[in-house]
Order: sequence, then C-alpha cells, then structure tokens
Amino acid sequence: MRGGVGTGAVGGICHAWAADGRCISLLKVLLSNTCAYDCAYCVNRRSNDIRRTAFEPEELVRLIMDFYRRNYIEGAFLSSGVIGCPDGTMERLIHIARTLRTREHFNGYIHIKIIPGTSERLVLEAARWADRASVNIELPSSASLVQIAPDKKPEAIFGPMRALARASGFESRLLAEHPQAENRKLPDMTPRLASGQVGHIAGAPTPPTEIARSNYPNPPSPPGRDRSPLSLSVMEARKKRLRNPEADIIPAGQTTQLVIGASPESDATILALAENLYLAFDVRRVYYSAFIPTGNDPRLPVVGKPPLAREHRLYQADWLFRFYGFKANEILDPAHPFLDMSLDPKSSWALRNPGIFPVEINTADYNVLLRVPGIGPKSASRIIAARRCGTLRIASLAALGVVMRRARWFITVSGKLAAKEFDEISMRGWHLLEHPELLRRVLLDPAFRDEPSSQLEFQWETD
Ligand code: SF4
Repeated sequence: MRGGVGTGAVGGICHAWAADGRCISLLKVLLSNTCAYDCAYCVNRRSNDIRRTAFEPEELVRLIMDFYRRNYIEGAFLSSGVIGCPDGTMERLIHIARTLRTREHFNGYIHIKIIPGTSERLVLEAARWADRASVNIELPSSASLVQIAPDKKPEAIFGPMRALARASGFESRLLAEHPQAENRKLPDMTPRLASGQVGHIAGAPTPPTEIARSNYPNPPSPPGRDRSPLSLSVMEARKKRLRNPEADIIPAGQTTQLVIGASPESDATILALAENLYLAFDVRRVYYSAFIPTGNDPRLPVVGKPPLAREHRLYQADWLFRFYGFKANEILDPAHPFLDMSLDPKSSWALRNPGIFPVEINTADYNVLLRVPGIGPKSASRIIAARRCGTLRIASLAALGVVMRRARWFITVSGKLAAKEFDEISMRGWHLLEHPELLRRVLLDPAFRDEPSSQLEFQWETD
C-alpha cells in the first residue's frame, strides 16, 4: 500500500531459521549472474540471452556491511554463477567471507554456496569463514545430470559434500571405524529401491546408506521393524550422531537442494536420495524446489506451472524422516512411487498399513505414537508425560495437541475406539480401519478436514 510502513517482499532479503527457532534475515545475493555452465532449468545458464552483471568482491563487502549497520539484514547468503571456472569463482566468494570476518569483524551469519567442481582446499577454506555451506545436487539422477546440467559431474558435487562432512567432524569418525568403506564404489545412490525406478546418481564416492548405517551398532528400532544397524532411520541416526568437538567449522552444517519436476525421477527416488544424504553426509536440510519454467529449452518438460503441491508433499515426507523416525522405503515403495497429492504422506502410509492400528493411547510407546496421523513429537511427548499422572480420556487428547479429526480413526483410549465418540459411521458398527478406501474418503471429506480445531476442555481422569 502506497504510503504504508514495511513490506513483506523486499527484493534479495530472504529468511532462514536457526536451530533454536530464530528467524534470520539474509541478503541473498549472486556475485555474478554470468555462468560458464548450461543447466537447462536455470535462468543464468550460458545459452540464455540475458544481460550479465557482476559485483566486485569489495563492492559486495561494503553492501553487506551497510545493510547490516542499517539493520536490514542479520547475515548474507553468498552465491554466484560460475565465472570462468569453479576455483576462480570460489576464491572471490571466499575473499568476501574472509574480509567480512577479519577486516570488518562481522559476526553475523554467513551461508556460502560451494560451486560444484571446487577443489577440496578451497571448499575447506570457504567452510572456515561460514556458518553454513551448501552444494546443490539439483537433479536426482546421473542420467538427468548428463542431460539437463551437462557441466556438472557427480563427483564435482559429492566430492565437496564429503569434504564438508569430514571437516565438520562427521565422516572422519565414520571412516575411522570403517576404513574399507573409503574404497567402495557406490553402484546406486538409491539402494533400497527396486529395479525399474528411474535413475540414480552413479559414481558418488561412497555408498552413503551402508556406510552411515554400519556406523551405529545395535540401534533402537520402532516395534515391528527389524533391528539391523543398516535399518537406522534419519531421526535415530541423528540422536546417535557423535561429532569431533575440535571440528568447529560450519556450525550450522551443510545443506543441499533438489529441483523438483525438471526431470522424470519419482518421489521414491528423490526421497531415497535425500535419506542417503542425511545419513552419509550429515546434511542438515535437503531443500526441494519446484521447477519454474524459464523458457523453452527442449531438454526440459513442458509444464504449465511449478509443481508446488508436489514440493509441499516432499517437505512433509522429509519431515517424517527427521522427526518421526520414518525411512524412505516406508513412505514410498515401488508399488507407490509417487506421493499422494490429496493426502499427507503420514495418513497415506497409515492407510497402507492398517495392521498396526488402532494404537492404544494409554500404553503405546513414543515411537508408535509418532506413527499415528494427527500426533506429532510434541503431542506424543505430552501424552507420555500426562500418562504418568493418570489414565487419559478421549476428551483430554485435543488439549495435548492431538489433531483429533485425523487421529480419531487410528487410536483407542482405554480400549475404546476414539472415532466412536465422534462419527455416526463408527457408531453404526463400521470399523473404518478395515476399509482403507472408505477411510481415505472420510479423511478427504471437507466435513472432517475443515472441522473447527477448537481445543476441547482439558480433562483428566485419575485412578
Ligand atoms: S551452475 Fe548454477 S548459475 Fe550456472 S547455470 Fe547451473 S544452476 Fe545456473
């Protein structure tokens, strides 16, 4: 609004969230949009006829400091197209980060993008000055990489990722325990997928899943799942992660990004790759970015609009890795290679696995509670804590944060099916868990989805 105060859409300012939940404003800036590479999905690709421009490194240092002093930003996200060669570009980005830290005494947040193909020496030098570093994979298979981003080679991406993992104290321990792993080649980045899935990143330096998993002997597993060390979920692996305390570079870790919809890989392939990255390289976050058409490059599919719904579902599935103890091959499998666009991944999984439900709220352990649609880490913890004070009633659950419009179908409370308290179908004797298709229709029914989320009165029953 003209004459108003503030704006939510300042060009170049983006937001990142720190581990403690703080929101950090970052100046997200390219040193240059010149690029020697020709990635078909990117507006800055060599073959795109656009106006090119670049900052001098010192110019960018001044800009960042000016913005910081005016309180526009709390940090910077430094990236660039490839100016000539990866090492030359990286040296300029490092110059900016180093100058900010040493000459300007800048203690704000710095995220630095590692250019694929950068030599290990410069990767480590960049990491020295940054809070976070990222190497973008972009495409989930080597076949797509060859076709869509031909200048990027798998080793040029995974080499820097491995160097960052080691330098941050993660892989050194892992390899120390399994030195033979160093020499093993990875035949398939998605080893748990059946044959017939589209593509994989071949030639990655180590077999991430197997190495990472063999690092954790005798892990706990959710009930009903095998206890092999190789079956460790991302959530479990993170709980058991040990770091070398002397490795204090990139305290916010490394991240990566995958472009969604520019290549034909299934969601199962994408999730299996993401899981491997979490386990093998200790990647903090995998970002999924819906492909935005930028022209009519024949190497790309014709899409009307960015697949934002798919991006959203992938983020939900990713959340299941990190906070709910799911594994990629549980969320999707060869029979279900794509996420359900109309239903969240956890509800979808529950409908395919009705055998583990209903879950008894008054006795189920934490990992089992996490499997119930409508119950998250916070509400599961609250349920466990509240049970210490007495037996829970159905009416208590909403106040503990349980989303009853979803959970009601999957739980019993003191042996009584929770849905019976709510809907006519169950009262008439239907057990919807025995009719997953019908339950799916009920879950999709706006009458249930849009139910007001008013929290019921908090009620306790003490014995
Ligand atoms: S290397 Fe980066 S900037 Fe260059 S074309 Fe590829 S994605 Fe775009």
